[in-house]
Amino acid sequence: MYDYDFFVIGAGSGGVRASRMAAKYGAKVGLCEDYRVGGTCVIRGCVPKKLFVYASEYSSHFKDGLGFGWSSSDHSFNWKTLKINKDNEVNRLEELYRKNLDNHQVEIIKARGKLIDKHTVELTDSRGSSILTASKILIATGSWPSYPCIPGIEYAISSNEVFEFEELPKRITVVGGGYIAVEMAGIFNGLGVETSLIYRGNEILRGFDLEIRAKLREEMLKKGIDVRINEEVEKIVKTSDGYLLNLLNNNELKTDCIVYATGRKANTGNMGLEEVGIKLKANGDIYVDEYYRSTVDNIFAVGDVTGGMQLTPIAIKEGAALAATQFNDTPTFVNYDNIPTAIFSQPPIGTVGLSEEDARDRYGDNIQVYKSEYKSMKFTLAGRDERSLIKILVDCKTDKVVGAHMIGPDSAEIIQGMGIAIKCGATKAQFDDTVAVHPSSAEEFVLMK
Ligand code: NDP
Repeated sequence: MYDYDFFVIGAGSGGVRASRMAAKYGAKVGLCEDYRVGGTCVIRGCVPKKLFVYASEYSSHFKDGLGFGWSSSDHSFNWKTLKINKDNEVNRLEELYRKNLDNHQVEIIKARGKLIDKHTVELTDSRGSSILTASKILIATGSWPSYPCIPGIEYAISSNEVFEFEELPKRITVVGGGYIAVEMAGIFNGLGVETSLIYRGNEILRGFDLEIRAKLREEMLKKGIDVRINEEVEKIVKTSDGYLLNLLNNNELKTDCIVYATGRKANTGNMGLEEVGIKLKANGDIYVDEYYRSTVDNIFAVGDVTGGMQLTPIAIKEGAALAATQFNDTPTFVNYDNIPTAIFSQPPIGTVGLSEEDARDRYGDNIQVYKSEYKSMKFTLAGRDERSLIKILVDCKTDKVVGAHMIGPDSAEIIQGMGIAIKCGATKAQFDDTVAVHPSSAEEFVLMK
């Protein structure tokens, strides 16, 4: 009766996973996307960002090498080479995504989708519009950078544009103190760009463990990043050789490029959502129940559009859960407790569970804090002045580890395993009972007294 059993709007992490799984369960699936398959993560987020992080780390690696007997030769950096190679890798991944969808008989349509009624989607591309119908519809359109309204904001760019730079600027200013801001600041600084970061609050990375946040700022400052806290941009003025930022307290800053990383808003505008009865929150996020159903019974939403944690693995899990619930007769929802996450700052951060501040709020004086601050073995011969910090938080009543945090090399790799342990309810006694992997940084997690 309908053209499709399931029609998905948006080919990012959540939409791709939901459509592929639904097709695997036997549904006839269509998917529309007006840009590229892969979404923010693959095209202008996690993947190219991580490649840029790797690129930017070489400047420190080359310096570290001197202490290990390597002599310095010409270590000049070529942005164009990095950009071309990054583009090739993103193209390769996009192609893989497409092939995977093709293999599952998901029909990919390059067009913009808009709801006409609860079963009808209008598709628009450069040639015009067409109409299709579907029994169930998924909105998986992700999010988009949001900017504050200040004079001159039109001169600012977001992380989206950074991935398309033809040349590196000499000076850059990043505004914000969240994931994207600290990651971008680390990348540019490592690539030799004079980098400033402007954050409005007392300490960057609000919501994370306070000591870890302070440590990151300390290390960023040591690396030469001009991190300014309790500071705000009031106005951006274009000048003959770049931009002048008027800051609070009559401060000024000259720069060549301004990147705003001040959060992202759901892509829910001009899609006919409210017209068909889908309720949106004041900020544009879509209300969904625990099975990702919107206020219209056959229309669902997953990923950033629902206003949860804006993380690729969350969107993927939600997409898979939705497909299992709707097309495999297996009601499934995502457990949002103890989600491990990494910030690819320099040094990187890995974290899972409660921060010390949240743990104290929840468990009061029952919280025992174990800490280890140390210099990585690699940095001894390298002579690098960088220290790592590891913390675990234990609820003394149950002996359960309720939070694990790390800032230092390999944090992202190490925290995944900690995530499993905490998810399983591991106790401090079980951490202590685990034999250390020696010599490593990870062993600190099982050696804290
Ligand atoms: P975040 O929400 O992480 O951070 C936004 C930052 O901008 C905060 O420091 C916030 O300050 C500040 N801010 C907000 N509004 C203003 C304003 N009007 N003026 C000045 N500063 C402002 O958003 P991001 O843009 O960094 O990242 C978006 C999401 O993408 C993240 O939440 C994360 O989930 C995801 N992401 C994940 C990554 C990973 O997994 N490694 C990497 C990159 C992104 P305040 O703290 O005071 O509110």
